[in-house]
Amino acid sequence: MVVGLLMVVASLLVLLLFQYNWLRHVERVSAFAYRATLHGYLDAVSAEVEFYYRGVAERMLEVPADLFVDGRTDQIATRWGSEPVAGVRQLFLVDYTRDPYGNILVYDRAQGRLLSPFASDETMAIIVACSTWQLMGIRGVPIHHIGMRVDERDPQYRIIFRPIVDGSSQLVGAAGLILDEDYLERTLIPQIVDHVLPAGETESTFCLVASDPAGRIAFQSCDDRDLRDNGPPPSDPARSTKEGGRVAGSAGLLGTKDAPVVGSMNLAFVFTDWTLTLLRIGASPTEWARANLRFNLVLSIVISGVLLGGVVLAARAANRSVRLSRMKSDFVSNVSHELRTPIASIRVFAELLRAGKIQSSEKVLEYGERIEDEATRLTRLLDKILDFSRIESGRKIYRFEPTDLAQLVGQRVERFRQRPEVAEFSVQLMDAPTFDPISLDADAIGLALDNLLENATKYSGESRTIVVQVKQERSRVGVLVIDQGRGIARSEQERIFDRFHRVDQGDVHDVKGTGLGLSIVEHVVHAHGGSVTVESRLGKGSTFTLWLPRRPNETGGTA
Ligand code: ADP
Repeated sequence: MVVGLLMVVASLLVLLLFQYNWLRHVERVSAFAYRATLHGYLDAVSAEVEFYYRGVAERMLEVPADLFVDGRTDQIATRWGSEPVAGVRQLFLVDYTRDPYGNILVYDRAQGRLLSPFASDETMAIIVACSTWQLMGIRGVPIHHIGMRVDERDPQYRIIFRPIVDGSSQLVGAAGLILDEDYLERTLIPQIVDHVLPAGETESTFCLVASDPAGRIAFQSCDDRDLRDNGPPPSDPARSTKEGGRVAGSAGLLGTKDAPVVGSMNLAFVFTDWTLTLLRIGASPTEWARANLRFNLVLSIVISGVLLGGVVLAARAANRSVRLSRMKSDFVSNVSHELRTPIASIRVFAELLRAGKIQSSEKVLEYGERIEDEATRLTRLLDKILDFSRIESGRKIYRFEPTDLAQLVGQRVERFRQRPEVAEFSVQLMDAPTFDPISLDADAIGLALDNLLENATKYSGESRTIVVQVKQERSRVGVLVIDQGRGIARSEQERIFDRFHRVDQGDVHDVKGTGLGLSIVEHVVHAHGGSVTVESRLGKGSTFTLWLPRRPNETGGTA
């Protein structure tokens, strides 16, 4: 069993060691992975912004060249009116079919048609954005790359536009849109962040901040408090406020020495001068990975401990059942041994008598007495076994009656003295104090006392003196059986009350016994609400005491 346990402990240790090494490895890799994941969030937000604006531009700026050539640009206005789109401040066309310098038409949402705009910054921005193509158109240079272009030279007028060419790649027009910054800031980025970042994680571990070219924070995914708790206070309040914006107060964090910036990048397609920044507000990736390592290690150790505990419990249960089955088989062999001796004696004496060889009447008397003694011993043994079986099966019935305990002890001691095997012993009964009768089962207590007296003789060693004493305490009375025999080791003193248990001193087969006596004694006194105690020193003798309460249960019953 010990070897088995050692094997389990050794394998658990090896497992823990491997686990530890593996977790260390995971700790390193997961810190990298975590960092990469965080950067992935930035990429994802930027990609979603690009995806949105490309989609809008594809839909709105796809204009057939025929409409310019045939002068049917009104139809475009009808389409734009039927498909309203968010995030666009202005839609426009430039028609080069009538005027090589371009005829600018802006879409009037209220009237649902195209109008020629007044000269304004906006008109200038459109002219500047389209100027390259305008020149190519004037010079008749064919235009092959008709993809979308972005012009953000003037941050007030961020323009996406595309040239429209006819079948011979000659410029006939341009379609474009001017982006709405407020939409990006108040609607698009918050929506995308909500959608891209895992719920809950944003608030607890990091904060995504979008800032414009001036460094003003246009959006942040966490509270100001979280940022303040994890970084220095704002250093440049001038940069940090925007009227009506979602954010105020934390811009000073960005780019400062202590600000826990995980990563940052510019938007990719439009608003390319806007910056997305990830700030750490919880544990750093390394701290996070370390905390994970610690948690996993503790978990592994706890699980190993529980496993070990389970194995130890199972081993103890197995050990106990092995011990019990060994004690049972010892019991069977002890009982057979105890039965065989008296039966053999009875047979010998009976044969002698039957053969009629014994002439002297004294001898006949003596042999008759021997047969009677052996038969009595057999009866006592069988009574003990039957008693035990009744107790085990819960069929034992006690009949309580008010009894003079001192008198009962006197009678049982007297009767015990009559036993032939006790002849050479001096069984002394000390004077008992007088007290009121106690309610008890006289037979059961008498048998318990007999068991103690038998043991005192059986395990007497060289000593031949046994003392019996009745003593009274405030709430209980005790019957002491004192011998000066071989005594019982301290380690055995509790176990001697276990059924079948016998102390092995190398003579278990010489001193007859079943290992039942003390377990019966203990059961009887417990049924009386009392207890049995032992004080013993190896080689010096033992004192067994039956303790009975002064007012035990008055009624009879099973136990
Ligand atoms: P047994 O039939 O073996 O006597 P018991 O249950 O009466 O069974 O006793 C259990 C064991 O306790 C005995 O085998 C013996 O080793 C020990 N024992 C009991 N009484 C005494 C005593 N008075 N002195 C020494 N050992 C004792």
